Amino acid sequence: MNKIDLWTKANMLRNQLGEDPQSPIDIFSLVYTIDHLTVVFYPMGDRISGMCIKGQDSNVIAINSAMSVGRQRFSMAHELFHLFYDSNMATTICSKRIGAGKEAAEKDADQFASYFLMPPDALINAIKRFKEKEGNKLTVNSVVKLEQYFRVSRQAILIRLIEENELTEDEADSMRKDVIRSAICLGYDDSLYRPLSHQKQHMTYGYYIQQADEVFEKKLVSSGKYEELLLDAFRSDLVYGDSIEGGELID
Ligand SMILES: [Zn+2]
Repeated sequence: MNKIDLWTKANMLRNQLGEDPQSPIDIFSLVYTIDHLTVVFYPMGDRISGMCIKGQDSNVIAINSAMSVGRQRFSMAHELFHLFYDSNMATTICSKRIGAGKEAAEKDADQFASYFLMPPDALINAIKRFKEKEGNKLTVNSVVKLEQYFRVSRQAILIRLIEENELTEDEADSMRKDVIRSAICLGYDDSLYRPLSHQKQHMTYGYYIQQADEVFEKKLVSSGKYEELLLDAFRSDLVYGDSIEGGELID
């Protein structure tokens, strides 16, 4: 697919999920509105960023939760391409490095993810805004602001800025070190650059949990089996109630 196609598809999916074409998005909240989709977070080691399993009646997206939050957002957008626009597959396992996948669908999914999280016109506007304050140069400060604005990893923003001829390879290379420091010195918190806590790296959300609840409510499974289903999905919080310890906050 060419870039215009991928930009159009990114725009279409934003529209389908109720998002405008320009704003930064909370991709994880958004995917929970997709019917029949289970999302699994699991630390998958050094080589895999995520996977997409398309079934007859339901689908699963799994995200390597050992990667930074910014990268997990990109992985999710990448997997959405497989889910909605990659007609050739049932299961795809995706490589960790952006742009490293050999198949056309992998490159397309990366480009789609970049457009989905950083729509081209929104990116151009943001670059212009941030550059103006830095003497019309794209400094590391502007790069931090861009990655924070769109909530993407340093690698994802640098690859895109090279592609848009905003940075040379050498300039980008010099911005691949001291990433967290460059952000915290500008007053940002560092959550974008780190994985979530170890406890939250094993989690299942979405359709599977709804289904487990439904079969239990309809008394199709025993409470023991229901708990087993939840524990299989790393949801000890639902079985033992640790998530509501200390009471709920309504506001
Ligand atoms: Zn992929």
